[in-house]
Amino acid sequence: MNKILDFATTPLLREEWEKELVNLIHSKYAPKWNAKIGDRIGEDEYQFVKSFQNEFLQAKKDANYQTKESILLFIEVFRNQSEFFRSRLFGLNISDEYESIPLTNRDDLQTNITAIIPKDLDLSKMVINPTSGTTGKPILAPNHPKSIGCYVPLIEYSVEKFGVKPIHSPKSTFAIQLCYQEKTIEYATCHSLAGGAKFAKINIHPNSWRKPSDLQNFLIESSPQILTGDPYAFESAMKMGIQYKPEAIQSTALELTPALRSKLSDYFQCPVINFYSLNETGPIAYSCPIHPEWMHILPHDLYVEVLSKDTGFPVPSGNMGEIVVTGGRNPYLPLLRYKTGDLGEIQFGPCLCGDHFPRLRLLSGRKSVYFQNTNGDTINPIDVGRILRKKPFIFQFQVEQTRKDEWECRLSLETEIIKDEFQWEIEKNILHKELKSLFGENSKVLISTNYPLDGKKQLAYINSYQIQTEANK
Ligand SMILES: [Zn+2]
Repeated sequence: MNKILDFATTPLLREEWEKELVNLIHSKYAPKWNAKIGDRIGEDEYQFVKSFQNEFLQAKKDANYQTKESILLFIEVFRNQSEFFRSRLFGLNISDEYESIPLTNRDDLQTNITAIIPKDLDLSKMVINPTSGTTGKPILAPNHPKSIGCYVPLIEYSVEKFGVKPIHSPKSTFAIQLCYQEKTIEYATCHSLAGGAKFAKINIHPNSWRKPSDLQNFLIESSPQILTGDPYAFESAMKMGIQYKPEAIQSTALELTPALRSKLSDYFQCPVINFYSLNETGPIAYSCPIHPEWMHILPHDLYVEVLSKDTGFPVPSGNMGEIVVTGGRNPYLPLLRYKTGDLGEIQFGPCLCGDHFPRLRLLSGRKSVYFQNTNGDTINPIDVGRILRKKPFIFQFQVEQTRKDEWECRLSLETEIIKDEFQWEIEKNILHKELKSLFGENSKVLISTNYPLDGKKQLAYINSYQIQTEANK
């Protein structure tokens, strides 16, 4: 059989790591793997992450987080290296006029990405993350294996705050990420930055397993220290009756309500860590072990502002505003006052948990939405997104379930495809067919093309049918 990992994708791979990984992959309970992914960590990347980790741990110890004053150095560096920074900062004395620095929005990442990427950079190691999330607009987020590698010390720090001691051994499985989707990539790998400890992403959807009992057995056999995933995947896992006690659960990607948090914690009998991370920014914050509704800013190299929607100035503590970030460590995507589109409030001062970085409380806005197909089974909106996002001519979309059997699919399209009526008719029919097969027999799908492309973070998925049904109960 083909080698599972090789030195091209996992340059620091060792024989004993591979042996352990092969055992996991060939387990008789294993899911239907469909991808091979290495960490792409070579000696340079390894050293980069280790020195990042040292600085990070020291900064946490000293409560040395980024401020408006300390982030100036980062901005000055990229003012010389990135055309985007140079033009945005033109004529500004940034130490006196910080609030005059224009904000970067998601549209800029789409249209100005070549100007943002610093000049004279080796682009050969660029990785483009598949976009995801709850909004219908794909964003380009180029990344580098070394900045992706920095997720490891950041995640390890956050789980250690909850009493989990990551085991750096190829015999250990650190994390298994759960998904519940009709289709998604599934793979297992080992991580050079964690002493070869294993990591896997699995789809708990019945499509992915040979026998229904395999999932449960696979979890017990591989015994990951933590389970990660979005609230939707964990809710599905509970409904399926999965019995597995990890040391902690890390919930990402979508907002975790307090009710679901305590339900998860009761069910899996472990702490639940809420993790706030975006593709464009990397990890931003994790929930405080003592005050779970607050999330401490995680990295030491990211300056977080909370700005008033009206004035654009920072709001005083206790007020809601938009979360805006500057800095980071992604060499291809230095962030200059990047609007995350998320709302929250910020609080400063020491915390009893021992992490004295500022705390964010996110306003609900990224609640998970599900659809029901015509049989009443749940559909993960990500499967809808998968169909729409693979069409390069769809810039932004919104899909709303309006009735038990009816969906409205609003698209903002590239002008070329609208001009070519014949081609659009063909593409529209394909979309129709694919969406109807997901929504179920006798479903109706109305496709319109006048959805505005305005750079706003619009909701991609709405289930107004469910909202009405619940209101009528
Ligand atoms: Zn705390």
